[in-house]
Amino acid sequence: MEFSLNDEQKMMIETVRRFIAEELKPLEDEIEDKGFLDPAKAQAIHDKAKSLGLYAMNMPAELGGGGLSNMDRILCEEQFGHTTDILIRRAFGNVYEPLLHCKGEQVERWLKPAVEGKRTCAITITESGAGSDAAGIKTTARKTDTGWVLNGSKHFISDGEWSDFFLVSARTGEKEISMFMVDKGLPGFTVGKDQKMMGLRGTPHLELFFDNVELEDAALLGEQGQGFKLAMGALNVVRLAQVGARAVGKASHVCEMMVAYANDRKQFGQRIGDFQMVQQMLADSVIEINAARWMVYHAAWMLDQGLDAREQIAMVKVHAAETLGRVVDRAVQVFGGMGFCKELPIERYYRDSRIYRIFDGTSEIHRGVIAKSAMKKGAALFDVHR
Ligand SMILES: Cc1cc2nc3c(=O)[nH]c(=O)nc-3n(C[C@H](O)[C@H](O)[C@H](O)COP(=O)(O)OP(=O)(O)OC[C@H]3O[C@@H](n4cnc5c(N)ncnc54)[C@H](O)[C@@H]3O)c2cc1C
Repeated sequence: MEFSLNDEQKMMIETVRRFIAEELKPLEDEIEDKGFLDPAKAQAIHDKAKSLGLYAMNMPAELGGGGLSNMDRILCEEQFGHTTDILIRRAFGNVYEPLLHCKGEQVERWLKPAVEGKRTCAITITESGAGSDAAGIKTTARKTDTGWVLNGSKHFISDGEWSDFFLVSARTGEKEISMFMVDKGLPGFTVGKDQKMMGLRGTPHLELFFDNVELEDAALLGEQGQGFKLAMGALNVVRLAQVGARAVGKASHVCEMMVAYANDRKQFGQRIGDFQMVQQMLADSVIEINAARWMVYHAAWMLDQGLDAREQIAMVKVHAAETLGRVVDRAVQVFGGMGFCKELPIERYYRDSRIYRIFDGTSEIHRGVIAKSAMKKGAALFDVHR
């Protein structure tokens, strides 16, 4: 068992950390005020991150990506948690793993431009009538002689406005779901309103409508009928990286501010960190963050060993998201009125963190998965010696 990081990993963390502190953090307040990221600034951070080899780090090196192992990716994603969603997307990219199923002409049209940062892609599974029940979608793709005809709608699609194409899950048979790559601008494909959210200012979340959109055969990603598997496979890694690791990073960032404030702020002639009730909030946060981090690292290690980590990732999703929720809530409390005041970013972290318990499978859905596995497998799920 080895718990230490090697020198390359430490250097990689330091590079990402410095880039976030110097290039991204200074943009956060402006995005919060205006509600959007200036495209020229988006281009500048993209170009700079790319020149440092920080774009599409999860993609294979032979395609121009970073070729990182799951563990190394997780270490970077933990740092991403220190900043805001839209800045992560523009600087580091959000290239989804199902694109690796591209074959033949698809590689040049969709996969490579996405890895190179020339085309942005969003993933679209959720519909107004099908959220947790992702297999209950109503969008259909009907086979024709020349390709497919797509009909239906999606909602809550993150980054939709910046995206050039979309991975769309659609029903291709009564019990069959497939995935398609759908370019923005195709006749019959319209983009609806930006659905305003509690947090994640600057990231658009769009409705999409497909009205007899004609797709070529080449638009089918992977095999017909494999769409659900592709989507769920992608979400598994996304949950670990973009929810688990980022939640640990964000909770660490907030906890650092909370500890500094507890050291600095004086009431009744002493530091508030000397009051036991404040100490409990600090101690519980530190304990929970450390527990969540090792769960994240362990699940990443399992993936790198080629092991099935689905259950561990479900546990990470719940524990890391809920840890973050508790830590930011305590941070608001420790900061008192300043925690609620927009002069500090604490209230923003509080709003931005709430979604972690909802997207990529709610806590309830993951608890259901964990409980069913526990009932089926017994101690194997929680006793490593079985
Ligand atoms: C900011 C944001 C960004 C998003 N980005 C994307 C995106 O890019 N692409 C995309 O496809 N989707 C995206 N989503 C959708 C997101 O994944 C869904 O919101 C999420 O899966 C929950 O679905 P729902 O909102 O329909 O809630 P519902 O499924 O309607 O759930 C409502 C409540 O019922 C509970 N519930 C439902 N079923 C069960 C059950 N079986 N057992 C116990 N409790 C249950 C849920 O836990 C929840 O508490 C995004 C959503 C948001 C808010």
